[in-house]
Amino acid sequence: MNVLLVYAHPEPRSLNGSLKDFTIKRLQAAGHAVQVSDLYAMNWKAPLDADDSLGRADNSRFDPSLDSKRAFEEGLQSADIAREQEKLLWADTLLLQFPLWWFSMPAILKGWVERVYAYGFAYGVGEHSDARWGDRYGEGTLAGKRAMLIVSAGGWESHYGPRGINGPMDDLLFPIHHGILYYPGFDVLPPFVIYRTGRIDEARFARICEELGQRLDQLQQTAPIAFRPQNAGAYRIPELTLHPDVATDQQGFAAHLM
Ligand code: FAD
Repeated sequence: MNVLLVYAHPEPRSLNGSLKDFTIKRLQAAGHAVQVSDLYAMNWKAPLDADDSLGRADNSRFDPSLDSKRAFEEGLQSADIAREQEKLLWADTLLLQFPLWWFSMPAILKGWVERVYAYGFAYGVGEHSDARWGDRYGEGTLAGKRAMLIVSAGGWESHYGPRGINGPMDDLLFPIHHGILYYPGFDVLPPFVIYRTGRIDEARFARICEELGQRLDQLQQTAPIAFRPQNAGAYRIPELTLHPDVATDQQGFAAHLM
């Protein structure tokens, strides 16, 4: 299996740095091919801007979507963007590894998503009609591939429990799982989350590696999160609301799970 690990931590000697090294070794030992996008080490440019689309006329108005579309279609994307898209197409499985910063991914990783997910590549794909609303949410360029988050958080597991002050971790990660990964087609595996990172000694680190290793060994067998596909009948098109007889007693994020 080909695995792409996109990793966002500025310090190689951090917990995340150690777990990145562990992950690469474990996957390679199991015979998988691994590519790593170490965003800080690559000095990845986070902001999406006019420099991402080559060959633009001077002084023309920059349109983040339409310039992305044109650059993608005409082979005029910035080289760093095209390289990451090639890695995504190569990969059978994508791992995104990051510390939870302000309840989400670090800005450098968000910038990777914004720039690499070009119009025509990750969105704006497929027919839009009264029967289908594009190839997305279960369909799309990255369909057939798997993805999993590896996330560390300073807060305790209880802080992220069903009644915890921070809100449930599944809810916080929903925009990444559903919006960033399921949208362009990935099957999304349950995340590997490390809580309470301020309390890690050698013994706990060993346990974390043991648990992470098991998850990595099971990447191809683990059942994905059961999100509802957009074009398979559960949603009215083009309103894109759930049919009244689907998940009748549910609303919000949970309603989009089968
Ligand atoms: P490190 O700080 O590098 O390490 C954590 C612990 O692991 C240390 O005790 C270290 O000694 C130990 N360790 C590291 N490597 C090893 C090893 N090889 N063997 C044994 N022990 C080791 N947390 C939240 O819960 N929610 C938030 O919204 C949030 N927002 C944040 C925003 C910012 C800007 C920042 C800086 C932090 C935030 N945090 C938040 C906390 C953050 O999630 C944690 O600091 C982060 O997940 C810890 O990961 P790290 O790789 O930086 O760990």
